[in-house]
Amino acid sequence: MTLKTLTKDQFNEFVNKLIASNRVVGVKEKEKKFFVFDKLEDTAELRLDYDVAYLSPRKYFQPPRETLLKFTTKPNVKAEPVVEAKPFILLGVHPYDMKAINQMTTVFTKDNEDTNYLARREAATIIAIDPQTATDWSFWPWMNATTVDKGWDLFITDIGDAYVDEIGTDKGKALLEKNAQATDATNNQAAKRDEIRANLKNLCKQDRAINVPANDIGALVAKSEDHPVWEENAEKCYSCGTCNQVCPTCYCFDIREDLNLELTGGERVRRWDGCLLQDFASVASGENFREDRANRFRHRIMRKCTYVPQIVEDDLACVGCGRCSSQCLPDIADPVKIINKLAEGK
Ligand code: SF4
Ligand code: SF4
Repeated sequence: MTLKTLTKDQFNEFVNKLIASNRVVGVKEKEKKFFVFDKLEDTAELRLDYDVAYLSPRKYFQPPRETLLKFTTKPNVKAEPVVEAKPFILLGVHPYDMKAINQMTTVFTKDNEDTNYLARREAATIIAIDPQTATDWSFWPWMNATTVDKGWDLFITDIGDAYVDEIGTDKGKALLEKNAQATDATNNQAAKRDEIRANLKNLCKQDRAINVPANDIGALVAKSEDHPVWEENAEKCYSCGTCNQVCPTCYCFDIREDLNLELTGGERVRRWDGCLLQDFASVASGENFREDRANRFRHRIMRKCTYVPQIVEDDLACVGCGRCSSQCLPDIADPVKIINKLAEGK
């Protein structure tokens, strides 16, 4: 493990240099306590003390809408693939969002490689950071998402008067060497980083605890198919899909062909989809395999806790960011409340 240090002034200079010659995406405060990942124009905009960004950085790897190919039908039938992937630096990714990106990379690599996703993943240089604050809804410590050991190129930790920088890849090393005068971290600085990491779990409120060990959640959810919690919660569900849209581990999409009015050509377009939306499981014949709201509601939690873990090496596909819990108007989407309910009397 290689640990370097940058003073706060050196770090600001580092970010200035990155912004001057790269597309840098970092966290900004759009409104009071409302943080978003967005293109940085100036180092002063960067808020590394954010608690959670409204949307995860998923949108930079899987845009809400993208063109996959352009085609013509007249005078000739022709199709050209479209792959848009420009190099960028993603600065300030919390471990839970990094875990979600790693899961997406596995999903979009296994069996069928997704050219568009992988091109954008390859184009990204990721600088992760240990959180300094958490929201009232965060519960990442109980979902094994306090730390993440891969996916990032650099990992920084604010130790007060400086940042300790761990180098994860050659890309990260080259970025640091080219743009900063980092020195080797001292033993004291490394120890300070360890101490901060050991206390990260205390940033989240204890009333957000899940009363089952993370490794047992999958089995608990799998045997709860007939639990009344699905019907009870689904009665209040608007099928708005917000819990899907804000989730860093949701990656479902819909693909359609948009033809121009002359019917001479068009685009194949991919858009975000969401399993809570009424037509998510509709197929061409008109059949809807999950017409019932409770089925859709249950599917989301089953997917997070039992289906996707089979693809991503037993990682839970909920990383405890709390976004769905905070954004669901009828307050029914919270995985903590649902899993704890399932655990009652088990
Ligand atoms: S659980 Fe909440 S956020 Fe999700 S679809 Fe239902 S009402 Fe919308
Ligand atoms: S299910 Fe909710 S808490 Fe879990 S990762 Fe998705 S948005 Fe975050």
